[in-house]
Amino acid sequence: EVVFRTEGLTKTYDTGEVQVHALAGVDLELFGSELTVLLGPSGSGKSTLLNILGGLDRPSGGRFWFRETELTRASDRQLTRYRRDHVGFVFQFYNLVPSLNARENVQLVTDVAKRPMKPAEALELVGLGHRMDHFPAQMSGGEQQRVAIARAIAKRPDVLLCDEPTGALDSHTGTQVLSTLQRINDEFGTTTAVITHNAAIRLMAHRVIRFQDGRIDRIEENDSRLAAT
Ligand code: ADP
Ligand code: ADP
Repeated sequence: EVVFRTEGLTKTYDTGEVQVHALAGVDLELFGSELTVLLGPSGSGKSTLLNILGGLDRPSGGRFWFRETELTRASDRQLTRYRRDHVGFVFQFYNLVPSLNARENVQLVTDVAKRPMKPAEALELVGLGHRMDHFPAQMSGGEQQRVAIARAIAKRPDVLLCDEPTGALDSHTGTQVLSTLQRINDEFGTTTAVITHNAAIRLMAHRVIRFQDGRIDRIEENDSRLAAT
């Protein structure tokens, strides 16, 4: 099943005199239940694409679809509902509320979701069943990021979009965070797209999409992962 499709997607930023072509025509399909990694140099357009797919930003041109629904010209209200009901986000910085413990941070999302997990269930899934009463300042960076992942998956999103979830972590801790994402993808078949520079992702991902100057440079398939799932 094709979950995301784009056709000639462009994004141009006007910054005074110069125009920046963050996306210069992207044709792409992302498949259900797959873990896809977006690679490429800084400034090649990866975040811009992820933000558009997640309904956080809008393209300048081209078209894109989530399943059968074209989102290219969706209203702000439709995009807000789409984000709330279908998308989980994980960013480089965990954005946990410092005055709330892990369970309460996850509960902020489950309180407003349509068919959520229990906060404890989400935290157990990321291996933090023993940290539910801890506050962010009492947890390591890797643990805080796993709370952020628990928060993102607790509403059972159709897609999980992760923009440099390992960017603030050392490489060992980053690899653990990516393993958590792989396990969620394996167990629930959550369609996942990840931007990361951590090399461990190459073995975990079904597909590697390499960006260069706002375009897709090439796509590699990980045959052993595709065969296994
Ligand atoms: P990547 O995620 O691959 O590092 P980005 O999508 O963040 O790339 O950025 C692509 C290009 O768009 C870069 O040249 C960046 O400077 C530019 N860009 C991104 N966001 C903005 C913005 N809000 N205003 C102006 N330029 C931007
Ligand atoms: P991990 O490798 O799982 O991310 P660490 O080995 O870095 O965890 O940390 C182990 C424990 O030490 C954590 O559970 C946490 O209680 C504590 N700890 C680590 N870093 C910090 C920190 N910056 N502030 C407070 N506690 C921390």
